[in-house]
Amino acid sequence: MRQSLLEKYKEHLPVTGGTPMFSMGEGATPLVKSRKIAELVGCDELYFKLEGCNPTGSFKDRGMVVAVAKAIEAGGTSLACASTGNTSASAAAYGAYCGLPTTVIVPKGNVSRGKLAQAIAYGARIMLIQGSFDLALQMVRELTERNPIVLVNSVNPNRIQGQKTASFEVVEDLGTAPDYLFIPVGNAGNITAYWLGFKEAYHNEWTSILPMMMGFQAEGAAPIVRGDVVAEPETIASAIRIGNPASWSSAIEARDESGGSIGMVSDDEIMDAYKLMANGEGLFCEPASAAGVAGLLKRSETGLSLEGKRVVCVITGSGLKDPDLANEVEPVWMEEYPPDVSVVEEALKLS
Ligand SMILES: *Cc1c(COP(=O)(O)O)cnc(C)c1O
Repeated sequence: MRQSLLEKYKEHLPVTGGTPMFSMGEGATPLVKSRKIAELVGCDELYFKLEGCNPTGSFKDRGMVVAVAKAIEAGGTSLACASTGNTSASAAAYGAYCGLPTTVIVPKGNVSRGKLAQAIAYGARIMLIQGSFDLALQMVRELTERNPIVLVNSVNPNRIQGQKTASFEVVEDLGTAPDYLFIPVGNAGNITAYWLGFKEAYHNEWTSILPMMMGFQAEGAAPIVRGDVVAEPETIASAIRIGNPASWSSAIEARDESGGSIGMVSDDEIMDAYKLMANGEGLFCEPASAAGVAGLLKRSETGLSLEGKRVVCVITGSGLKDPDLANEVEPVWMEEYPPDVSVVEEALKLS
């Protein structure tokens, strides 16, 4: 059996003799070499880190396995989180695996159908609130302060610890850190975790370079870029529809220490990247994941030369999470035919 994330990285994680070791198959995700987009941006070595291959379809599982293991170690008996969708799917899955009741507080009408379907199927207590993710997070923080319930949002430091393992894997696969890392930014836990992971990899001499961290927010939800809280964040990319990121200051640190940048992309740019990823690369990702790709395309168009550079783009979640958005894409070809092969042949001009 493949070594689990907790086992493989135990010396670099807050794992002790008392930590329960378990796995749902998180981590060890593929790093896939780009073809189409690599050509478009003039980069021979562009890779996608496919975090949608985690057990619940997003990178959230890396942090969740550590957060839940530590919760159990500390005697915790139930979990709670606020979520734009993927954290609740992950918490609910690990809660179910470990037999811990899980409560998720989500903004009503703002969670994509695939993610809500997961939370329902895994049997979480789902509380829909009229309000943003930011408000849901505030509520769940109060709830878990006052009650014996473990908070498993990325403000839980064990989440960041688990998520940093993605950087370790990138360094292991490439034999070095990349020159650039493109990544979507919502609550900013992930950019924080990747930077922490790269710095540890550097410290451990697994890499002699550090990447520039290139984060991207959606224009309607870009508090870090604008330098101010966004009261009503809006974007089609629901996983980054966040107006007041919990890890704001550490995202700024990652940007500045790495010499990188945090920019923003429009919903149209996100949609274009989303479609290009699927029909040009064969990689079906979430719209939030496409924000990092949109940022890469945008930076390249505005003069960033990637020639001779090694670039990794983090594809944070699976496209199946948001089937409604996928159904809005104009099909290349979708028509009804009679059940008659010769008609199909004729249509395909084969006969
Ligand atoms: C959570 C999430 C993000 C944003 O990550 P943060 O750590 O909140 O910045 C991006 N994409 C997907 C698919 C996510 O689930």
